[in-house]
Amino acid sequence: MKISKIFLYNEPSINELKINELAEFIEKQIGASVEIRQKFFQHFNLEKEILYQIASCRVFNPYVPFEKHNPTIEDITFEERSEMPSATNNIILYDGFELQNIFKHAIPDSELSSDKFHLIFTTKLTCSYDYEDYRYHGRAVICSNPSIISTTGMIEAPAKPRDYYVQLYEKMSQGLNLEAAKREFDGRFLEYHDNRLRFIVRGYALQAIFYYLTSVPFCESKKCMLYNAHWQEDLLYTQMKVGKLCEHHQEVLSNLQNQYA
Ligand SMILES: [Zn+2]
Repeated sequence: MKISKIFLYNEPSINELKINELAEFIEKQIGASVEIRQKFFQHFNLEKEILYQIASCRVFNPYVPFEKHNPTIEDITFEERSEMPSATNNIILYDGFELQNIFKHAIPDSELSSDKFHLIFTTKLTCSYDYEDYRYHGRAVICSNPSIISTTGMIEAPAKPRDYYVQLYEKMSQGLNLEAAKREFDGRFLEYHDNRLRFIVRGYALQAIFYYLTSVPFCESKKCMLYNAHWQEDLLYTQMKVGKLCEHHQEVLSNLQNQYA
């Protein structure tokens, strides 16, 4: 597999992504040219039918595999609003692979050749059903072409420190202010509009691209940006403190680049 062009679809409500910097980073790492586009459904036509399809992949019961939802008029209006550039965070669950399918169908065939890779940013919380524990889990990245990176997923999917939940529960049961508990853990997990999102997103973008190029998106090592972090603290460590690929993956990448040359 070879990528000659990468399209990034911006999520304008999340300035902290700093998409221009991300594009430069990817260009340097992968050696393919990167084009930044506006929000996916501003670049491509948003038809009523698409709004209906998006609304129908909402997940209401996280304990059962995907069932198509029958959207109401309100659901469709909600989707219409959330596609506006000014829309704020959306923490409703959507089946990530159903959503991926909708995005894919909106891209013209001429742009679906295998050397073109599409990476879509969204505030929608993508999730996938896990048959190991029979429930849906939030995902920051849905790997495929197009791939989806959920800004809400980056914040909500990897778990916060265990002690944080304990303290939160204690404070709640004592009727105390939760802000104090949050302050105590300041910086140990990502928050909405966190300035660190611009660095965190790099690892997820590389995971999506690695999956496309090699079918292996993740690395076992915490000293690698491809580490699949289940905890916020691991995520911050691998992307902020380490911020690079391990030797093995650096080599994989160099070999791929040589193949292109
Ligand atoms: Zn690695």
